[in-house]
Amino acid sequence: MYTNFQQHLQKELADIKEAGLYKNERIIASPQSGEITLQDGSKVLNFCANNYLGLANDPRLIAAAKEAMDTHGYGMASVRFICGCSDLHKALEKKIAEFFGTEDTILYAACFDANGGVFEPLLTEQDAIISDALNHASIIDGVRLCKAVRYRYKNADMADLEEQLKAAQAQRFRIIVTDGVFSMDGNVCPLDKIYELAQKYDAMVMVDESHSAGVVGNTGRGVTERYNLRGKIEILTGTLGKAFGGAIGGFTTGKKEIIDMLRQRSRPYLFSNSIPPMVAAAGCKMVDIMSETNELQDKLHSNTEYFVGKMKAAGFDIKPTESAICAVMLYDAKLSQVMAAKLQEEGIYVTGFYYPVVPKDQARIRVQISAAHEPAHLDKCIAAFTKIGKELGVLK
Ligand SMILES: *Cc1c(COP(=O)(O)O)cnc(C)c1O
Repeated sequence: MYTNFQQHLQKELADIKEAGLYKNERIIASPQSGEITLQDGSKVLNFCANNYLGLANDPRLIAAAKEAMDTHGYGMASVRFICGCSDLHKALEKKIAEFFGTEDTILYAACFDANGGVFEPLLTEQDAIISDALNHASIIDGVRLCKAVRYRYKNADMADLEEQLKAAQAQRFRIIVTDGVFSMDGNVCPLDKIYELAQKYDAMVMVDESHSAGVVGNTGRGVTERYNLRGKIEILTGTLGKAFGGAIGGFTTGKKEIIDMLRQRSRPYLFSNSIPPMVAAAGCKMVDIMSETNELQDKLHSNTEYFVGKMKAAGFDIKPTESAICAVMLYDAKLSQVMAAKLQEEGIYVTGFYYPVVPKDQARIRVQISAAHEPAHLDKCIAAFTKIGKELGVLK
């Protein structure tokens, strides 16, 4: 039975390799941090993790997780509606709502699940979803699972959004859906203008704060802080897997009736396990740390400003960014792979992205800055980019 299918897969895999587009996984042998050790023993500076606040190996989060293992055990071994959840899950839901200035929160195993389970329970074929063209794959999949009429607007293009909103007047309810930060470019969605259009055309708004929570806004409260719209947006989704400690978990937070309905009908919530209690405990600690001081957020902001400024001055073509993502544009897919490999030889751990992760002929190396980076790390990265950039003819 398998023979024909096996040959089919072998041929497809060979084609991917031939095109130079085969993805190899690298193995990390140390905790996630600004500086990491790879399996071969080499030490590299990590510029491709979503560890924006450097919390992935924070001793305070580790201590909170260990303590919760002792008091609450290892796993939940059930979905919540059947067997309940722990006090730690409820505490984290409350803290996330306070963090974003929202009414209630529902946790998921991942933000992929939060986005996958948010549309179908709330909207029907009578309704409309108006989605940014560059939204994350999990939003696209979530929209596919729902019968609502779909509209798509060009990335952050407000004229196009307005056209789509006009067309969507034919439906009963409308929701505009956008990433807070677009992960391949680093730009922030123009939420002020989106909100204005939503008011004008009677639409709700949903923002995925995965790359913006902990990063964007003076205190890292995300795009609703950046645009002074705390409490005004109906739905926010986000992840515990990036700035918020980097372990696992996702959430939807917003209007209380919406969250209540998700608890009744959202399939990834009803039919999938909840996060381990230790992750909930560490999540609570994470919110406490971010509320006590702005130290990590400030360090991230100054690191990013320094890095982007120096890279531009060195002559690199950098996408306009308002986040901790710095897209170094190379355009050519193979060049992005060669350059990333050469940077790794220089001790700089980055990833080159190419189609279909980014549009054709828009290949790039995405550098992600962290509060775990020290000034010397940033300088070493900039020097390596400059050296390899000259070698490969990217810089004159
Ligand atoms: C990373 C990411 C997700 C997925 O988050 P997980 O918790 O890892 O599943 C969803 N949306 C956006 C915009 C992301 O960047």
